Amino acid sequence: MKHYDIGIIGGGISGIMCAYELIKHKPDLEICIFEKGNSILNRRCPLTENRSEKCVKCSTCAIMEGFGGCGSFSDGKYNFTTEFGGWLNEYISSEKVMELIEYMDEILIKFGATTKRFSTHTPKARELRKIALQNDLHLLQAEVKHLGTENNLKIMTNIYNYLKDKLNIKHHTEITDISQENSKFLLTSENGQYSCNYLISAVGRVGSEWFTHQCKKLKINLTNNQIDLGVRVELPYEIFSHITDEVYEAKLHYHTKKYNDLVKTFCMNPRGHVVTENTIGVLTVNGHSYSDENLKSENTNFALLVSNKFTSPFNEPLKYGRYIATLSNMLGDGVILQRFGDLIKGRRTNEKRMKKSFTNPTLKSANAGDLGLVLPKRYLDNIIEMIYSLDNIARGTANYDTLLYGVEVKFYSARPELDNRLETRYPNFYAIGDGAGITRSLSQAAASGIYVARNILDRIDDQ
Ligand SMILES: Cc1cc2nc3c(=O)[nH]c(=O)nc-3n(C[C@H](O)[C@H](O)[C@H](O)COP(=O)(O)OP(=O)(O)OC[C@H]3O[C@@H](n4cnc5c(N)ncnc54)[C@H](O)[C@@H]3O)c2cc1C
Repeated sequence: MKHYDIGIIGGGISGIMCAYELIKHKPDLEICIFEKGNSILNRRCPLTENRSEKCVKCSTCAIMEGFGGCGSFSDGKYNFTTEFGGWLNEYISSEKVMELIEYMDEILIKFGATTKRFSTHTPKARELRKIALQNDLHLLQAEVKHLGTENNLKIMTNIYNYLKDKLNIKHHTEITDISQENSKFLLTSENGQYSCNYLISAVGRVGSEWFTHQCKKLKINLTNNQIDLGVRVELPYEIFSHITDEVYEAKLHYHTKKYNDLVKTFCMNPRGHVVTENTIGVLTVNGHSYSDENLKSENTNFALLVSNKFTSPFNEPLKYGRYIATLSNMLGDGVILQRFGDLIKGRRTNEKRMKKSFTNPTLKSANAGDLGLVLPKRYLDNIIEMIYSLDNIARGTANYDTLLYGVEVKFYSARPELDNRLETRYPNFYAIGDGAGITRSLSQAAASGIYVARNILDRIDDQ
């Protein structure tokens, strides 16, 4: 059985940054990243490459899995904030989290990232914040860096080329079981067994269900009761341009008058594209945008998500989200697309009605349908109220031809009990990134990886 000093399960940004920091300070460490997906050089999605009109549900999803993680085909919006994007500041001070994010940015710049940032602190952005507030919409504060989908992929490839000779990266190696024997961790995969002294789980949202199962087996306590569910909105770029030109991405939070539920804008992509993603076997929607002018679309897209925390006796939000997404897949044979005007009139959008739309959808594989048959009333009411509210600060949001794609689900991974070193109750076994339920963004996932690397380095020095 091959033995490593350090085993990292998952080659997403959290695992990558962890490995980078470890190898930078201790080049002699034997480290292995176990990644179930493809190498960054071979990740190909038939849908995004127009080789298929529909998601063909590949055995490993090139969008979600492979070196670079689910962030590789994202447009790389790196947020410099602790206001959203995770809960790392529940374990580490906010100052420390910001320092880790800044450090991560230095690494990205070294591998080719831009130094340009957008900010919500400029005079124009402050004016936007005021207008939003006057409409009971709350603009969260952040600096954001947009790498662009094509650049993000290049940067991940540069990092891969840097790391590949310094440590082991095992692709197509899905870890199926974790156990402990004589203070070593045993990892099982179809390709064989491995052992390691230090273990880091960095499995992302795609691996969170499996990791939850492992935690239950290892008697590590878990908590989770939240889900964000909603739609992706797509409209002409001009409607939001006064906001996106200034802050790039506006995270706007609103409590609806009807239910006092939190609805938020999320993942805003000026002149972007709507895409499907295969989340644990169901098709949901997401969005991204390129930085290359030639690859930009005419539209802006963003998610409108309703946050819901379930209370006793129900404690399976993942199942709930998957159930709604499965319903939408069943009715729409994939992702459903509806014009806002049709939704308000209580009628489905069909192909004939879609042809009348002034707004052209960027996601061609979505089928015209009726989200009213998919989303529970409370979610629909919340989304409709939020759209009218946004119309007050970006006139045209509530136009008839505003397109709604459904459904978008943000699953919250169950959170294992971790101490403030992000260590489980098993010494030398850590959990980082989105799969541990402690982050929900590239920046904080990366920061968690660097943080754990430093803790391990300290421990090794102390031995
Ligand atoms: C389309 C899209 C766009 C996005 N855009 C943005 C954005 O602009 N800005 C932002 O901040 N965030 C964005 N996100 C979210 C962001 O990508 C994640 O927050 C981030 O990638 C989390 O990093 P991670 O390392 O925790 O997990 P991931 O990136 O999900 O990586 C986990 C890796 O672990 C592997 N894995 C899982 N289980 C196993 C196993 N058992 N054995 C071996 N390997 C395993 C997976 O294959 C995967 O490669 C986007 C996500 C998507 C899907």
